[in-house]
Amino acid sequence: MTAATKDLDLPVLTPDDDRYDAVRTGFQTYRPHRPDVIVEARNSTDVQSAVRFAAADGLPVAVQSSGHGLATAADGGVLIATGAMADVRIDPTTRTVTAGAGALWKDVITAAAEHGLAPLSGSAPGVGVVGYTLGGGFGILSREFGYACDLVRSIDVVTADGEFHHVTAESDPDLFWALRGGRDNFGIVTAIEIELLEITRLYGGGLYFDIDLIPELLETYRTWTATVPDELTSAVALIPIPDIPAFPEPIRGKYVAHVRIAYTGSAAEGEQLVRPLREVGPILLDTLAEMPYTDCGSIYSDPPFPHSYTGNNAMLRELDPAAIADVFEIVGPEAPIDCVVEIRHLGGAMARKPQAPSAVGHRDAEFVVRVISMVDDDIDEARALHRSLFTALAPWTLGRNINFVYRGDPVKDPIDDAYDDYDRLVELKSAYDPSNMFRLNQNVS
Ligand SMILES: Cc1cc2nc3c(=O)[nH]c(=O)nc-3n(C[C@H](O)[C@H](O)[C@H](O)COP(=O)(O)OP(=O)(O)OC[C@H]3O[C@@H](n4cnc5c(N)ncnc54)[C@H](O)[C@@H]3O)c2cc1C
Repeated sequence: MTAATKDLDLPVLTPDDDRYDAVRTGFQTYRPHRPDVIVEARNSTDVQSAVRFAAADGLPVAVQSSGHGLATAADGGVLIATGAMADVRIDPTTRTVTAGAGALWKDVITAAAEHGLAPLSGSAPGVGVVGYTLGGGFGILSREFGYACDLVRSIDVVTADGEFHHVTAESDPDLFWALRGGRDNFGIVTAIEIELLEITRLYGGGLYFDIDLIPELLETYRTWTATVPDELTSAVALIPIPDIPAFPEPIRGKYVAHVRIAYTGSAAEGEQLVRPLREVGPILLDTLAEMPYTDCGSIYSDPPFPHSYTGNNAMLRELDPAAIADVFEIVGPEAPIDCVVEIRHLGGAMARKPQAPSAVGHRDAEFVVRVISMVDDDIDEARALHRSLFTALAPWTLGRNINFVYRGDPVKDPIDDAYDDYDRLVELKSAYDPSNMFRLNQNVS
């Protein structure tokens, strides 16, 4: 503990503490944060003290919950770890959840289900509520209900001057707009109040196809998505499945396409809707079924274990056959580095004007293409390969979304292309964080 931090009435860790490595390392294990001080905040007062301490010394401040979305790792400065602020309060009368800064979606899913409700969570229940929602939030039911940030009612935040604000669309429209899309560029969120959905079940799961069927499947998926109702949100991923016992025998060690489906209509209607996909050919593994919302993590089956990865994305105005061919050729089965590629169908409610506007850009995108590679020392090669895909996709690209940028190169890939009105974001950043204290992120500068 340094002399300065010793005087703080805060739970702090410094590099010589035993727990320092465990707390600074989250889900993303590629070069984790290495701050001078970690503040394990217990409440918003601790966050205020940490921010004021950093401001007095001119130190940058980073924030980490689950560590799924680490962008720019701290090298010095202060890291606010929010794991101890994981409280989840459901109000069944207003159909809302108030989630602390460290709450994960799985905590909310479980608590909401007890009241016959569900959040607009994403593919992986282990992701943090606040980071996901402030980045927009592509939910597994987003075509029906919009971006997760559209359902936010209020945000508690500590800004760079150490002040606490309870922000709503009415109390501070600018900050409410900027936080939803700008993430921690505008402050450290201590709690967030979000609307819940009256949903307890869905028809969902996955269909896995072998490599030979992939070109036909992708073409069928492209045309099929134009026919489905907003109640059906889907994606298709191309995955080199490792040859290890953790994966079921029919797909183990194979290069597969995995169609991911979530539909709020009946199972019988769902069966009818997915029929054109089933008709593409023999299915290696079929997990489509009626399920409680609490099992939604099984639909995408994202890896639940921490690992080291880089990834990026492009929001496309349309899915042209030539774009699909580029995906298959550049980051498909013959790619020099293993890539998991996912094409998610957007549109529906995501394309409609939300009640309270947010900084999240490209609502008119019909698809997002994302690519992820596990990396070690080859991160630059992986980034270059991903970049070559996005260069090829440029004719159809509107920009990016920050939630699907993982350890991108902040110099070669500045994040301004994630927004429709970057100038307004920059103007608000200058007002709320003039010294760019919150710069260890996808930085608005
Ligand atoms: C396996 C996996 C599946 C995913 N699935 C989806 C998905 O389906 N849909 C989707 O939209 N995204 C998805 N994501 C992306 C995810 O939403 C983002 O990476 C998000 O930022 C993760 O937030 P976190 O708190 O879990 O991660 P962290 O790494 O802890 O935080 C990431 C960033 O969020 C911001 N943040 C976190 N806490 C606070 C706070 N208290 N105040 C202000 N800012 C804060 C900061 O900018 C921080 O750097 C997925 C990511 C992974 C790795």
